[in-house]
Amino acid sequence: MRPIDLVPPSTRWAERVLCAAPGCSNPTRERKPYCTEHIDQLEYVQQLKDTLAGVEDEQARVRRKGAKAVDPTGITAQEILRELRLHGDRTARRLSRDLKLETELVDAYLRALSLGGEVELRPGNRGHMVASFGQSSRVA
Ligand SMILES: [Zn+2]
Repeated sequence: MRPIDLVPPSTRWAERVLCAAPGCSNPTRERKPYCTEHIDQLEYVQQLKDTLAGVEDEQARVRRKGAKAVDPTGITAQEILRELRLHGDRTARRLSRDLKLETELVDAYLRALSLGGEVELRPGNRGHMVASFGQSSRVA
């Protein structure tokens, strides 16, 4: 940190900060870079980005380490459970097509969820595993 007298006078003068969003010239509060309206939008977008980054991180871990890296309360697991609840029994292949995820990834999630009883797995036609919504999920 540098002493206050080394800060150029111009920065001390800039008390009124105008919103940095394109086309917006509202003054901001507490010298934030954006006005109240735009900072809310930015925070919302940032939260969304963080959430999506979290989902991608988890999926990358599951690709590397398999079922044990699955977070059964995470967004991907919840999406799979929702598919099964809404549409009934599904193969990993069908789930992977509907959710746009690799079959191996869906497979790892299904195996993890079956351990917790959220999903039931049984052999289906042509050697494919069929997943259905499990007993322990029906309550929630
Ligand atoms: Zn603004």
